[in-house]
Amino acid sequence: MKVSVVKETAPGERRVALVPEAVVKLRTAGLDVLVESGAGDGAWHTDDSYADAGATVVSRAEALAADVVLMVGKPDAAAVAALRPGQAVIGLLAPLTDPDLTKALADAGVTALSMDMIPRTLPRAQPMDALSSQANIAGYKAALLGASQYGRFFPLLITAAGTARPAKVLVLGTGVAGLQAIGTAKRLGALVSAYDVRPETRTEAESVGATFIELTSVGAASGEGGYARALTEDERVAQQDELAGHIARHDVVITTAQVPGRRPPLLVTEDALKSMAPGSVVVDMGASTLGGNVAGSVPGDTVLTENGVAVIGASGLPSTMAAAASAMYARNISALLLYLTKDGELALDRDDELQAGVIITTGGAIVHAALAPASDPPEAGPDTDPSSPDQPDEGAARVLPGPAR
Ligand code: NAD
Repeated sequence: MKVSVVKETAPGERRVALVPEAVVKLRTAGLDVLVESGAGDGAWHTDDSYADAGATVVSRAEALAADVVLMVGKPDAAAVAALRPGQAVIGLLAPLTDPDLTKALADAGVTALSMDMIPRTLPRAQPMDALSSQANIAGYKAALLGASQYGRFFPLLITAAGTARPAKVLVLGTGVAGLQAIGTAKRLGALVSAYDVRPETRTEAESVGATFIELTSVGAASGEGGYARALTEDERVAQQDELAGHIARHDVVITTAQVPGRRPPLLVTEDALKSMAPGSVVVDMGASTLGGNVAGSVPGDTVLTENGVAVIGASGLPSTMAAAASAMYARNISALLLYLTKDGELALDRDDELQAGVIITTGGAIVHAALAPASDPPEAGPDTDPSSPDQPDEGAARVLPGPAR
């Protein structure tokens, strides 16, 4: 079976789906590995390093003709057009927010497997959990970005030239990325507080060094599978108002809040930004073209508010650490591929819970339970009005890849 790696085409994407170490592993399992020339450049892996690991370096057209095509993100339109029935594609395909791509892959007769749909509750899926591996990297980098933008120290420093008090850092959202942001800011010496709408995250946040903040105006909003549910309009306003008081007392705020399949909830309003001291920093990991966790954040850019608060639109952070992110992603995708392979061939079985979770199209149809063609488009889809608040929970009946503990 020929397995290929294509070069990513999304703007600014530097990651690659397999690193040479993973090629060796797949070769040992009897797979032929093809790598598109230049695929590893952004992550500092040369064509020669792939060839040394046993891969064949090929053109894009040859890579796209393999039995299984591996990628980090989504295939672009030209790649989808090049695919043929019977081929398999594996990547972070985001089918909950990109129904058009899912349909195009089904129409192409391709078997598409989406890494972001892996049922994270299954212990055997944990080595394949790319959402966690990439969120870990993003949380680490978000804390570093906050520290480097902040014009003062994170740690307490007592020197002959004076004493610097430690920075007060607030992390909003304590999932995988948030916990890593807490740990990183803590290791840099900051005083870290954290908040999440799921109260069960308190122990985890405290275990990595944060003081957990509880809001009195909003109750628990734990949803299905370990994720948060979207808040109602009333809850959202109450949360924003109460959070604003906490935000004003912090020097650096890092936001990581997500609700699967929806636009990120707005946690830091314009008024909250106005209440912050000049020189404060807000890192919005949820920044997207649909709007992020922070009012006015621009993905990939840093905006300075009139009162001197730097708002960093920190989208795409894993790609900024492409070598580490690719190494982890390569382990995730190789683990899935080897799980699906029997005697050197892909042996798919949709009766298997893990596979049913990850296969989104096959045999010309959309087959995933959460992607029934008749359902409404997801709220976070491209047609969502970015100016509208995050939608309430009603109708969010999608089957999501729940996290495992
Ligand atoms: P995520 O990226 O979907 O969300 C990030 C965080 O934002 C979540 O903790 C969520 O509760 C929070 N959030 C959402 N709306 C919010 C709001 N309005 N206000 C404040 N916070 C809000 O989550 P994730 O990082 O993918 O992980 C979800 C959970 O699953 C975490 O508890 C994580 O530890 C757990 N998990 C465990 C494993 C494992 O043990 N193997 C693997 C993956 C995830």
